[in-house]
Amino acid sequence: MIRVGVNGYGTIGKRVADAVAAQPDMEVAGVAKTQPNFEAHTAVDLGYPMYAAIPERAPLFAEAGIETAGAVDELVADADVMVDCTPSGIGAENKTMYASYDTPATFQGGEDATVAETSFNARANYDDARGADTVRVVSCNTTGLSRLVAPLSEAYGVETVRATLVRRGGDPTQDSRGPINDILPDPISIPSHHGPDVQTIFPDLSIETMGLKVPATLMHVHALNVTLESDVTAAHVRQLLENQSRVYVIPEGFGLDGAGTLKDFALDAGRPRGDIWENCVWGESIAVEGRDLYLFEAIHQESDVIPENVDAIRAITDAADAAESIERTNRTLGVGLAGDPTGFDSAEPVEADD
Ligand code: NAD
Repeated sequence: MIRVGVNGYGTIGKRVADAVAAQPDMEVAGVAKTQPNFEAHTAVDLGYPMYAAIPERAPLFAEAGIETAGAVDELVADADVMVDCTPSGIGAENKTMYASYDTPATFQGGEDATVAETSFNARANYDDARGADTVRVVSCNTTGLSRLVAPLSEAYGVETVRATLVRRGGDPTQDSRGPINDILPDPISIPSHHGPDVQTIFPDLSIETMGLKVPATLMHVHALNVTLESDVTAAHVRQLLENQSRVYVIPEGFGLDGAGTLKDFALDAGRPRGDIWENCVWGESIAVEGRDLYLFEAIHQESDVIPENVDAIRAITDAADAAESIERTNRTLGVGLAGDPTGFDSAEPVEADD
C-alpha cells in the first residue's frame, strides 16, 4: 500500500484524496488543511486523518470539534508520497519540508516547472517521473493539450500546434474571480504562457497559444489547429482519438453542444461532483484540410488532472508501468465515457491514406 498524504484540501486536493482512496494499492495517510471549514468536516466524515497545515491553528480545529492527528510535518514523515495541492506558489515553499523528511512529492500545475525534476502527463511522459523525488502534474489546460499532442505526434508527426484557449474565469466556488461581464484577451501578449508549459512535456514541439477569459465557471474550451507531418482524413483522426482512454469524442446527435450540457451529462451519469476527467472533443468539429487538423474540445478544469495525479503517485514510487497504472486508475475511477448513437465505435479502422 502506498500511503499518500494530501497537503491542501481545496478543489484539487479533495478530488485527489477521493481518487487515492478508490485505488486498491493506495491509502490516504491524511490530509492537511489550514482551517476547519465545511471541507474539513467532509474529510473527517470520509475518514481521512486530519492534520493542521499551520500548526498554530490546531486549536481552531479542536474548537470546531475536529480532532487532528498532528501537524503537517508529522503527515509528511508518515507518508510514502506527499501530493501538494496548495495554491500556486505555496507548493514551492513546502518543497523543503518534503525534502527534509525524504518524502517524494508531487506538485500541481500552478507551480513553476522548476519546482520539480520533471513535469508530468501520464499519456505522454510517464517514464520520466519513475523514481523521481519531485514531479509536477501539469495544469488542466496543459493536460488537455498533452493528451491530444501525444497520439497525434505518434501517429502522424506534428509540425506545429496553434491553440486558442477560451478559459473559464474561475471555478464555481471562486466568487472573487471574474470577469463577470466581459471577454478578456488573457494574457493580452501573444503567444500566451500555455505553449511553453506544453513544451515542459514535449520539449521539441512547435506550439503557439493565445488565451482568453470569459464569464463562465464550468469548463475551458480549446480551438485547435494542428499542422501534421502527414496527410490524414478526419475519420482517421477521429478513430485515433476515440481509442484514447482519456479522450471522449462527443457523438453527433447527443445534444452535448457546450459545457453546460456536458456538465449535466456528467451529473446524470452519477459522476462524483459532476467531474469530467476526459478531454471532450466534439466529433463534428474534427476537420482536415490538407495536413491541417482543426477541432474544438472542452476541458473540465477541476478534474482532468485527477487521474494524472493518481498515475504520478505510481510513477514517483515506481509502483507500476504506464499502461498498468493508467488502466488501474481508469478502471477504479470509471474514466471513459461511453455511448455513441451514431455507431461509429463499430466502424472498421480507416487507414491514414484513405
Ligand atoms: P484551492 O484554493 O481550491 O485549494 C487550495 C487549498 O489549499 C485551500 O483549501 C487552501 O485553504 C489550502 N491552503 C492554503 N495555504 C496552505 C498551506 N500553506 N498549506 C496547506 N494548505 C493550504 O486551489 P486549487 O484550485 O485546488 O489549486 C491547487 C493547485 O492546483 C494550484 O497549483 C492550481 O494551479 C492547480 N490546479 C488547479 C485547477 C483548478 O481549476 N482549480 C486545475 C488544475 C490545477
